[in-house]
Amino acid sequence: MKRKIFLSVFLLLMIMILLSSAAIVVVLYGNVIDQNKDNLKSFAEAISGPCELHGSDFLKEITLTDTRITWIAADGSVRYDNRADAGEMENHSEREEIKEAIESGVGESDRYSDTLMERTFYFALRLSDGSVLRVAKSYSSVFPYLLYAFLTAVGFLLVAAVLSLSAAKALSASIAGPINRIKLDTPEKLASPYRELAPLVDRISTLQRQIKEQMQNLKRKQEEFQAITENMSEGFLVIGRQGEVVSYNSSALSLFAVNPNSKGVIYAADFDDSPDFQSVVSRSLAGYHTEMTIPRGQRYYQLIANPIEDGAKTVGAVLLVLDVTEKEEGEKLRREFTANVSHELKTPLTSISATAEVLRSGLIEGKDIQHFAGNIYTESKRLIALVNDIIKLSRLDEGSANPAFAKEQVSLSKIINIVVKRLSVAAQEKHLTVTVKADDSTVYGCAPILEDMVYNLCDNAIKYNKTNGYVAISLSRMEDGVALSVKDGGIGIPHDEIPRIFERFYRVDKSHSNEVGGTGLGLSIVKHAALLHGAEIRVVSEPNFGTEFVVTFKDQQRNE
Ligand code: ADP
Repeated sequence: MKRKIFLSVFLLLMIMILLSSAAIVVVLYGNVIDQNKDNLKSFAEAISGPCELHGSDFLKEITLTDTRITWIAADGSVRYDNRADAGEMENHSEREEIKEAIESGVGESDRYSDTLMERTFYFALRLSDGSVLRVAKSYSSVFPYLLYAFLTAVGFLLVAAVLSLSAAKALSASIAGPINRIKLDTPEKLASPYRELAPLVDRISTLQRQIKEQMQNLKRKQEEFQAITENMSEGFLVIGRQGEVVSYNSSALSLFAVNPNSKGVIYAADFDDSPDFQSVVSRSLAGYHTEMTIPRGQRYYQLIANPIEDGAKTVGAVLLVLDVTEKEEGEKLRREFTANVSHELKTPLTSISATAEVLRSGLIEGKDIQHFAGNIYTESKRLIALVNDIIKLSRLDEGSANPAFAKEQVSLSKIINIVVKRLSVAAQEKHLTVTVKADDSTVYGCAPILEDMVYNLCDNAIKYNKTNGYVAISLSRMEDGVALSVKDGGIGIPHDEIPRIFERFYRVDKSHSNEVGGTGLGLSIVKHAALLHGAEIRVVSEPNFGTEFVVTFKDQQRNE
């Protein structure tokens, strides 16, 4: 700005000086010419007298270089000329100024001279003998004077230029200085000494305030947005038109194992270059809402992509990534469970239906009816046990959301005694020795579920036992919680089967399990019950020697 002001002022001054100089030279030129003409006339009159007396001898004495002197006889022949050889000069009677002088005594003309080859002013004076004395001066003779005048003007111009340069510099500095000194944070401080700047300063202050407010708003919104996206367990990506990732949260980085520091610009393909992921991105960038669940390693991710529209144009896309592995696995388990349930229900129902069909035919003798009815009874009981277990499991699937699972301090020893009593007939049938060694430990939990848990563990210990075997139940306070142990000296479980026994409908030996009335859901119920109480289950088993299930209820659960 300072430079601009300075240049403008300097330029203006230079133009003004140039114009004034030009005007001076033009005016001067006119004056000089007039002055020269007057001088020339006076000169002619001054030398006319001596010329009449002494003739060309006098004229030869005159040594003026810029003035041409010609003496012409009355017949027009040239008697003398200080610039040319008079003898070789043509007759001058036809020259305008000569004619005029012969006629009226004085003549003048302003024309081009063939002799001097310059524009020339002539003045002629008739002498008493009828001859004419003519003096002439070319216009160029004034040029040295004009040049001098011009150079003087240029000198002044240069001095003026230097002066105007420093003046312009000082002026621009004095104008721009205060503006430069305005501090944008506190512009009002300069308002008082420079009244002319007050409106500008006011405007700057207002704009400053508005910018500050807008910046704060933007910052707050950005922080809110960041707080929301950073606290999301879902991945969040904003993708630009060329597939470049404009914004992302840390969940997106960890879900896709991307390290942003290793690259400059990150593209959507750096997150996942699979065709499915790419098709979701490209469809959303084409303006379509797109959803898809894709597998990645051991996990499943649901992608929800929405286009970002600016008027009719799609300028990018927002992509939300949800880890739906649990949901997908749950779905898979549910599908398998439904198929298994149908199968498990079908077996006893088919058996009941077939037996009833035989009985209905009337072909069965009286003594056999009891056997067939017994079959129907056994299968019905199995069916009831199965349905009961399915109901229990589906309730447990709801987890702590089920209001029926209210928790309280529960005495596990009481529950153990109730269960042992319920199973005493079955234990006696196998001549088992059942021992209970329980302290008065309590756990914070849901009594009916804990009873189901203890029942299933003790029921299995009896079912998969040997005749004359033993079942040892103990409850004791450990360092970090309460441990319930159900140990038997039964058939045991092969080591490689142990990880699978908690799966729904999984049985190590299906025919044996069916024989002893197992549903294949008992340990699933135990696992879910433990999960609901935050308890851990440990299994130690040795085929032919027996099995021990230890459920540890951690102390923190009591303070829930
Ligand atoms: P089931 O109703 O068949 O007993 P569970 O889910 O309770 O089903 O048990 C799953 C399988 O684990 C059983 O079929 C059995 O093969 C094995 N099992 C469970 N408890 C014991 C145990 N105490 N001793 C030996 N095997 C056991």
